Order: sequence, then C-alpha cells, then structure tokens
Amino acid sequence: MLTKTCVVNAEKNGRMNGGDRRPNRMYQNPKLHIAEMSLEKLDPLSLRVKMLYFGICGTDVHLMKVDSQGYIVCSAPIDIPEKGLILGHEGVGVVLEVGSYVKNFKPGMFVAFESILTCNYCRSCRSGNFNQCTNAKLVGLEMNGIFGEIVDVSASLAHDVSAIAADSRLNIQAAACIEPASVAYVACENAKIKGGDKVVVLGAGPIGLFSAMLAKDIFGASSVNVVEPVEFRRTKAGRFCDSVHDVGEFFDDPPDNIDVIIEASGDLDCVNRIFHKLNPNGRIALLARLGVPLRIDNVDHLITNAITIVGSRGHLGGAFHKVIDLYKHKKIDLCSVVTTVDQGIDKLIYYLRENQDKIIRENCKVLIRV
Ligand SMILES: [Zn+2]
Ligand SMILES: [Zn+2]
Repeated sequence: MLTKTCVVNAEKNGRMNGGDRRPNRMYQNPKLHIAEMSLEKLDPLSLRVKMLYFGICGTDVHLMKVDSQGYIVCSAPIDIPEKGLILGHEGVGVVLEVGSYVKNFKPGMFVAFESILTCNYCRSCRSGNFNQCTNAKLVGLEMNGIFGEIVDVSASLAHDVSAIAADSRLNIQAAACIEPASVAYVACENAKIKGGDKVVVLGAGPIGLFSAMLAKDIFGASSVNVVEPVEFRRTKAGRFCDSVHDVGEFFDDPPDNIDVIIEASGDLDCVNRIFHKLNPNGRIALLARLGVPLRIDNVDHLITNAITIVGSRGHLGGAFHKVIDLYKHKKIDLCSVVTTVDQGIDKLIYYLRENQDKIIRENCKVLIRV
C-alpha cells in the first residue's frame, strides 16, 4: 500500500556536540518534501493509523532552520537516516489495523500519541522517570514520525481518545493538542505550582499558553503574567492570564514577589532579568531549548533564597490521562491555542519550508487536516 508522507532529508557532515546529544552542526541543508512511501507488513506491536489532523510544533520549525553554513540549528537530538525521516509528533488519527501482539486497541478507535519512545529497561525507566529515559527516541526527530496520510506507530505510544474525539470535528482537533498540553502539565508539576502562587510565563507559544492556562485554572496560581515579543501571540494570550506584556515593557518594571517562572521562549536572558524578583523557595522551570547558555548574575539571591532551577522535558508519567480527563470535564479548552486549521498534507511544505514566519508571527498552533 502506498501512502503520502512528509519527509526531511539532510546531509550528515558533522558529529554530535560533546556528550550532551546536541546535534548542532551535524546535519546540513535539510530538504523537506512529500514522498510516496510503501507500507510493509504491519509490525506485531504497532498500529496502522489513518491520520486526521497534524499539529505543527516549534520543534518541526526548528528542524528546518539553518545557520549561515546551512547546518540545522535545532538543539533537540535528531537522527536523520540517508533515506530521510518522516517528520511530526503531534496529531490524531483513527486505527485501521492492529498488530497481532497488540491488545486494547481496535480498528475504528481514535488515537493520539505520546512522542517519546522509552526503552523501559534503563535506570530512569525502572525508577518510573520515563521522561528522562536515557535511551529515549523522539518521534519525528530520532525515528519516523506521524506526518503521513497513513502511518505505522508503536502501540506503546498510542492513547485511545475515542471518548473525547468521536463526536465532533472540534473534539478531534482538541485531541491533536493533548501532547503539547501534557508537556505544559509536566512543566507545572516540575515547577511545583501551588495554590496562590504568582507565576510568570515567558513565551506565548502553545506550550506557554497551556502552561498559563493550567497554572491558573488547574494548579491554583493567584496571578499569571505572560511575556511575549510577538504582537499576535500577546493578543491571543490575554484570555489565559491576568496580564500580558511585551518584553521591553515587562523587564523595565517587573512585578515583585514572583514564586514561579516558566521559561517557554528560549530567550534565557529573560530569566536573568527577573531573577532578583523571585521569592524565597522560588522555582524556575526551563522548557524551551535553543541550545543557548543560561546566565544567572545574582547567584547570592539563589543561595540565600533556596531557589530551584529545574529542566522540564516530556509528557510521560500520566500527564496524558490528566489532560484527557480535564478536557472531558470541561476544565481546560484544548482548542483555544489553535489559530489556523488548513487542509492537506502538502500544506506542511507551505508552512515548514516556505512560510515559517507565518507560524511564529501570525499563529499559535497550526493544525493540518489530512
Ligand atoms: Zn511538540
Ligand atoms: Zn529507558
């Protein structure tokens, strides 16, 4: 069977950067195209899925961004084989066929996907810290992703979302947003947001907006300020928080008594600029990665006030179930970050190859209806 997929090819001309898995200066001249691929016999542990919606993530955009010498500047781990890599890790589909060893799934079920394939035998996995699996493979970055009309996906990544997705187009679109919402959920957990906390969210992309929404409506923050340089995204952020600010204006006169900073912008200098306003036992959760260093000038403030800086990666460990239940009970509106729904797999080329700025300057979450 032939199916259309969105594939990235690149020239492997470099090496991993040190031991930290950063692939900076490893792949050059990425090329994105729609390719016909033939589906082999279905793996016994996989599902064959007809995709209904794709979500375009910032990571997909970063994968297509290059420096002056054509190297991909994305700092997430990537592994692009010679024949190319199917892109994509956010989306929802309907099961066509079930591998012979797979239980719990049936054709016709709606499924959404986690995007980190864990090994389940490393020390982290066996301690229950699946987001930190040392052998993790990121879907659509280190293994084939889900940007295809029909894709084979490991059943271990799939969640049955029929209960929320089966009855309306809007609910199917919501199911396509579970993954980024779960990333934000884990960030709020890692930042240990408690009732009454004052929270600052840096960056109003989908993860930033979901973080603001969850901090306020679910984790009980008393106030949430969002800081974002792009006007379109600032306008969008208004309904998720108490106040929205442009970068310059916010840092000229930052608020006092901040309990939590969620960094979802990648501009780590912003953390340094409000660091001195953090309360005792303040927490900073870093999510966005652009491979830039974090500088904290006021180290005395950190020591004196027992401030915690924590990295936050992933959405495993139960966040999917929490987000699905919150949506089911109308506690969060997953579709509220969606700003464009476009039609056809070819549109991935339009957005990721030709109009990256449209995603960042004129959108929050772009969904593609397959
Ligand atoms: Zn994503
Ligand atoms: Zn593992």
